[in-house]
Amino acid sequence: MTDQLTLAEANGAAAPASRAAALELRGINASYGNTAVLRDVSLTVAPGSVTALIGPNGAGKTTSLRVASGLMRPSDGAVLVDGVDVTKASAARRAKAGMCHVPEGRGVYRNLTVRENLLMQSSAARPKEAIELATSVFPRLGERLSQKAGTLSGGEQQMLALSAAYVANPKLVLVDEPSLGLAPIIVDMVFEFLKTLREKDVALLLVDQYALRTLAIADQAYVLRRGEIAYDGAASGLLQGNMFEKYIGEGAA
Ligand code: ATP
Repeated sequence: MTDQLTLAEANGAAAPASRAAALELRGINASYGNTAVLRDVSLTVAPGSVTALIGPNGAGKTTSLRVASGLMRPSDGAVLVDGVDVTKASAARRAKAGMCHVPEGRGVYRNLTVRENLLMQSSAARPKEAIELATSVFPRLGERLSQKAGTLSGGEQQMLALSAAYVANPKLVLVDEPSLGLAPIIVDMVFEFLKTLREKDVALLLVDQYALRTLAIADQAYVLRRGEIAYDGAASGLLQGNMFEKYIGEGAA
């Protein structure tokens, strides 16, 4: 029997008590020097679900992902993965536990080929399978396996960053602004890919400029404003009545 959360459960009902959150930020405070950036931020990503983190520029979205993945230490609060406190664990240790962070600006190794980038990330002792998996998601990468990642187009680099995350066989993926600077047709491919992750029972915490598209594939949503959580609830709740205008603003895409 599968223990994957049903959509209905992820959409509002509490997760079964036996299955801990894939990720929990609990009362996080974080600063750059003397500048406080996150204030008492708490959020939960249920296993196998998509959680949207939305907010204006400078709200603290990237900082939240950095705290979650261990690239930045909070001054207060805790980070839990599968119910285990990893606040003091390194980014490398969190990655080993199944967390994968795809940072803004395409986290690829520019001087390595597409094939080498994929093999670097793959947990597999089976490189052929890793390549097949990645190119099944983004066939265009299959034509460029021997090309240096730095010479790929921006869209292809984003495909590579996402598929490298995929072949790492993660339980939880944090994705920061995957559609930034991409042509509309590539943005469509990126969102299709992100939907695939959920089907594979991978939990996703997604930050993207396209709030409507992000909410459309999300189960839960959080809106950050000036480092504080302003909305916490079902993603669909932000699409009802005047909620979108109220929390995200008119004119947002
Ligand atoms: P954006 O959508 O513009 O990327 P964001 O919501 O991801 O914004 P963060 O990048 O987390 O926001 O930044 C939150 C605040 O922290 C901003 O005011 C930003 O200027 C500041 N900040 C970010 N990185 C640093 C840094 N390395 N040093 C100092 N301040 C920083």
